[in-house]
Amino acid sequence: MGYRYQAVLLFGAPGAGKGTQGSLLGQIPGYFHLSTGDMFRAMDKGSELGRVFFEYSSRGELVPDEITVDVWSRYAHALTVLNLYKPHQQLLVLDGLPRTVRQVDLIRDHVDVTCVIHLYAKDREKMVQRLRGRALKEKRMDDAKEEVVRNRLDVYERETRPVLDRFDKSLVHDVDAIGSPGAVLAKILSVVTPIQESRFGNALT
Ligand code: AMP
Repeated sequence: MGYRYQAVLLFGAPGAGKGTQGSLLGQIPGYFHLSTGDMFRAMDKGSELGRVFFEYSSRGELVPDEITVDVWSRYAHALTVLNLYKPHQQLLVLDGLPRTVRQVDLIRDHVDVTCVIHLYAKDREKMVQRLRGRALKEKRMDDAKEEVVRNRLDVYERETRPVLDRFDKSLVHDVDAIGSPGAVLAKILSVVTPIQESRFGNALT
């Protein structure tokens, strides 16, 4: 097995704040944020892959596992070649992958999961509200329709939540997602800072 990306997984239902927290973490030296949702949305909508993505995401469904992991691994590799993501100096903040048990197996050779941040919210309606607010702000089609949002949450419960059981309990940290971005970030940092430092040292020295 070659070098595996050292990663922290941001895990949680749509609307839990993975993207917000991932982009905050990504601004700190020693971290690199990679979101599979952002990766897919950046694709040319007229391309074959762009069409496949739209077909699934517009229904609130997941893109098939093999396609997702294939595109993601090539994308991550390209980021390393371009020296944007530096695997030997940065902890990878993986947002939105893995989302199925099959994806856990498919990424195992590429990724060393150092910890899993499980952003949870007891109040499902709060998630629906957040997604609706975001849909308006970011013009996201998948979150604009109530039925698609509800399907996204159902898909999370059915296909994604079981992923949590695939990791050793000692790796999983539950973080309450309902709080200000700064408060949630503080909790995440208390978990990931020691990991980042022990693996990579001080990114500024
Ligand atoms: P997100 O922005 O993370 O909510 O992702 C938006 C959409 O991208 C999802 O509804 C899926 O259609 C697709 N997607 C993102 N990550 C994955 C993944 N790991 N597996 C399959 N589909 C994904």
